[in-house]
Amino acid sequence: MENQTFENLELIPPLRRALRGEGYKEPTPIQISAIPHLIDGRDLLGLAQTGTGKTAAFALPTLQRLADETRRVPRAPRALILAPTRELAVQVGRSFDVYGRYVKLKNTVIYGGVGQTPQARALARGVDIVIATPGRLLDLMGQGLLTLDRVEIFILDEADRMLDMGFINDVNKIAEAVPSQRQTMLFSATMMPAVSKLADNMLNDPVKVSVDPISSAVELIEQKVMFVDHSNKEALLRELLKDKSVVRALVFTRTKHRANRVADKLNRYKIHAEAIHGNKSQGARQQALDNFSSGKSRVLVATDIAARGIDIDGISHVINFELPDEPESYVHRIGRTGRAGAAGMAITFCDIGERSHLNTIQRVIKSTVPVDEKHPFHSVAAAAASSFPSYIRTRRGNGYGGGGGRGSYGAKKPSGRGRRDSRVGSYGRSQRRP
Ligand code: AMP
Repeated sequence: MENQTFENLELIPPLRRALRGEGYKEPTPIQISAIPHLIDGRDLLGLAQTGTGKTAAFALPTLQRLADETRRVPRAPRALILAPTRELAVQVGRSFDVYGRYVKLKNTVIYGGVGQTPQARALARGVDIVIATPGRLLDLMGQGLLTLDRVEIFILDEADRMLDMGFINDVNKIAEAVPSQRQTMLFSATMMPAVSKLADNMLNDPVKVSVDPISSAVELIEQKVMFVDHSNKEALLRELLKDKSVVRALVFTRTKHRANRVADKLNRYKIHAEAIHGNKSQGARQQALDNFSSGKSRVLVATDIAARGIDIDGISHVINFELPDEPESYVHRIGRTGRAGAAGMAITFCDIGERSHLNTIQRVIKSTVPVDEKHPFHSVAAAAASSFPSYIRTRRGNGYGGGGGRGSYGAKKPSGRGRRDSRVGSYGRSQRRP
């Protein structure tokens, strides 16, 4: 694993040139583990989340394989990538643009919530790679605007989220429309039973690659928790935003309603903020993302689902205004900062009612998030609340899985989180769910 380079991975020169242009110096663990097998044409089951470099891990071998072959005329989609959300699909499309800058392949992104005409036109002009959300793809297929019978590479990105969002039937239908002679890759952040089942159905003798979400996402990110009463959270947020080093803050709430409210309140205090969530039109969401990326707005307030697939560089702070229900979401959230080698800061607001969520998260990330009491709204009650919720006392495991057991709560400082490199052929402890 030492001193791996993109040259060692036998990527073709036009791809290496694009990577140099992006400033990538060396491949990430998932790229090291996955790319050689994918270039060999193997199927792959990747347990990895956003922030690990998984997009390049599948995009580079895909581009390499398609670029190698003599192009057929007319063009027909030869690679299909399914993504659960429009934002992720757009992001994956951008990655294909970037990595594929010097190869002559065309990609297009297909998603719902916008008029279909530009997408239909792009398909009619001919594309090699289609990146799509399932619903709109089936729609266009139903209208005879595209067929998948030339697809050689089929990729499911964020399969767990795709299933959470109820796309299983759509995914199955699409898979049936793709020739069975193909290379298939499935990426998922978690290995819940439904994902394993899907993988069993879709993949043929896959190579299994797993990267530790903790080593890849959390290691570079400084985290802290601030105990605060619920009613003081907005004031605490404004207090933090007085600090000019908070250049670009992504704030997470649990509900759409709260996202709107937090953004509105900030704007009242002349802090430019926008909210992004599933109730907003695609145009409004893209506009909010563009404003955030260009620096026009300093704060983006998002729900977990809306934030999936957001890949904006330079997010200096992730602020958990409310803790997520799922501990894995915590890792996803904080993975938005500290991208690509940059340092990041994740601050979590925790009120008394959220203590048990915090405990579960700490167990999943196998470390204790340091407490910052040096703010004007420190809640002694929340800080003093029992750190042992009742279900821990009665059962070792819980719905979230996680292997820490009760001992891990007691740790005074982050436990030794040595980087565990990706492993091939084993999920190890990353396979948390029973
Ligand atoms: P992903 O996990 O695919 O969402 O990628 C996370 C981020 O890491 C993106 O901003 C990529 O541009 C960046 N990235 C991917 N691979 C590398 C690499 N080898 N070196 C540096 N940055 C990378």
